[in-house]
Amino acid sequence: MIEAQKVSKHFGSFHALKEVSATFYEGQVTAIIGPSGSGKSTFLRTLNRLETHDSGSIRVDGIELNDDLKNLDAIRREVGMVFQSFNLFSHLTILRNVALAPIRVRKTSPAEAEAKAMALLERVGLADQAHKYPVQLSGGQQQRVAIARALAMDPKVLLFDEPTSALDPEMVNEVLAVMRELAHTGITMLVVTHEMGFAREVADRIIFFDNGVILEDTTPEALFTQPAHERTKAFLSQVK
Ligand code: ADP
Ligand code: MG
Repeated sequence: MIEAQKVSKHFGSFHALKEVSATFYEGQVTAIIGPSGSGKSTFLRTLNRLETHDSGSIRVDGIELNDDLKNLDAIRREVGMVFQSFNLFSHLTILRNVALAPIRVRKTSPAEAEAKAMALLERVGLADQAHKYPVQLSGGQQQRVAIARALAMDPKVLLFDEPTSALDPEMVNEVLAVMRELAHTGITMLVVTHEMGFAREVADRIIFFDNGVILEDTTPEALFTQPAHERTKAFLSQVK
């Protein structure tokens, strides 16, 4: 589904991604972990061109990610993203937030888009909040709306960048529960997270980033029981 080959990214003279290569298969759930500043967000953001890469290649569902806007459009339709900070539109109701992209981008009729948005809100347990505004919801609820909004475009891939890091502890589980349910639907997921329990239980694969490179790429079981590198051991001993 996603093929990254020798992807490099600089910010000025700082080398944030150093020839990162990885292939992500359809339906696979991958947890991405690693210290702050190691390049996790940058890597995720290059996959839908929120950041451009300097060199190397990225293909999503066979489409090359490059300056061709047609390709970018096609890829953005297939790849949804959920951010740490929800990024909901504050002037729109929850229902309108979820229905907006299908109406604007897919030219779905408002009635049809809202019916589908309602079904998605049902799925994340928020149908009864549909006519409220984001500010009236808790952080956990807002993040569940953000997930419903990403799903409204029927993506094949969902990228999550620390989706629970901005939440109060008591709201983390409600968001992880929605993600756990999604993981079983066959959608391809890449999840940057510090939730080691989630990574261990839900992910098929785990990647440890350090200093702009993938240091380990293995199963959660292997990573947690026999990390190959001292850096990984040191990191795990801090987060567990
Ligand atoms: P992580 O998500 O693993 O914490 P990031 O991918 O956000 O790390 O950042 C990797 C490195 O690149 C950090 O040192 C960060 O300061 C730097 N960086 C990220 N984005 C930018 C940017 N837009 N401009 C300059 N430096 C950046
Ligand atoms: Mg980050």
